[in-house]
Amino acid sequence: MQYLSVEQAQASVLQHVQPCGKESIALHDSLGRALAEDVYANRNHPPYDLSAMDGYAIRFEDLAPADGQSISLQVVDDIRAGTMPQRRVLQGKCARIMTGAPIPAGADTVIRVEDTEADGEQISITVPPARGANIRPLGENLRNGEVVLTAGTTITPGVLAILSMVKKRELAVFARPTVAILSTGDELEGINDPIDENKIPDANSHALYAQCKALGIEATLLGIAHDNPIELRAKLAAGVKYDLLLASGGVSVGHHDFVRPTLDALGITMHFWRVAMRPGHPLAFGTTEHGNAVFGLPGNPVASMVCFEQFVAPALRSMMGHPARFHRTIIARLTHDLKDRVGRTHFVRVMLKRDATGYLATSTGAQGSGIVMSMAIAQGLMRIPEASDGLSSGDPVTVQLLSGMEFQDHAELAA
Ligand code: AMP
Ligand code: MG
Repeated sequence: MQYLSVEQAQASVLQHVQPCGKESIALHDSLGRALAEDVYANRNHPPYDLSAMDGYAIRFEDLAPADGQSISLQVVDDIRAGTMPQRRVLQGKCARIMTGAPIPAGADTVIRVEDTEADGEQISITVPPARGANIRPLGENLRNGEVVLTAGTTITPGVLAILSMVKKRELAVFARPTVAILSTGDELEGINDPIDENKIPDANSHALYAQCKALGIEATLLGIAHDNPIELRAKLAAGVKYDLLLASGGVSVGHHDFVRPTLDALGITMHFWRVAMRPGHPLAFGTTEHGNAVFGLPGNPVASMVCFEQFVAPALRSMMGHPARFHRTIIARLTHDLKDRVGRTHFVRVMLKRDATGYLATSTGAQGSGIVMSMAIAQGLMRIPEASDGLSSGDPVTVQLLSGMEFQDHAELAA
């Protein structure tokens, strides 16, 4: 089987995962989900031209006196938000108007209180407005019958505001996938087991659980499987019933690495099992006959987490109907020289700072794929392209942010 580049492997994953079905949920539960229906406006908003300011509704033509006299208008009405004006504004007259109140017939412009001087019920204009100033036109937000949001839109607080305005108390969104997590290895010790000094605490189950949770998914932990084909087969068979299974460890070419042959034996179609990247070189991906996705992630915790960011997060975002699938990248400047080997995309854990010119990226230090602290202190993954043999201090670099809910359409692997 082939040895894929990171880009090829990402494309293969996105090509093979299937979107989840739709479900109906309450408005307040919809934040962060992807809309599964087009949403139409069921009213005009605003329903009439209204004032954007506290001031006076005037006839613009009244501001050009024939004989060069100073302009003075008589206030004949007082219009508050929530009341409909009863009187037309006639020549030489105006109406006091509050923000959000409907513009009365006859008036075409609002002048701000601050730009006038009042003397009883007469006002004079100190700063003339432009024609049509300070009016929010009918339908500026919503036009009755028009599509205001399309399926696939990610629901942010701003989108949720629009949904509330069209009274979407219930709406259709793409469902979240069910996800199972399995750690494999005879050396592993579960979090509830007593400490055995000769064992290795299972970090991957919990790191992967948290990475799913950061995407809004509550994953199921299947525990630890020994490096034993029979036990592994039973646990993997349970795992592939989920929309997506994450099995970590045992995907390499070691004598006791049974994950790939067991997935083969379970009838999983493997699309690739090696990617030209560091960390994370052994990485298997396949799909079941029902279209469920299976990842065999490397056992080293850093490699497992980096692979999640590059392949699993985009797969899950895609299944949940989001067009923006990759964690956001920024351009930073490297604060030091960095040697590298040609041939694999390298994901270097970095800490980020800012100065007046932008972001600065600094390596977290030793980059071994077992050094979990490098992930604990990193804010980003700096991507060094396959062809690079190193970088110099000051070079621009692409850094993928590790936290936050900002996503983009493209992986953007290099600066
Ligand atoms: P493997 O991919 O099974 O060859 O494992 C590579 C390395 O990662 C070994 O040192 C394992 O002990 C370690 N490892 C595997 N699974 C886990 C896990 N769930 N948590 C922490 N370390 C692990
Ligand atoms: Mg192992």
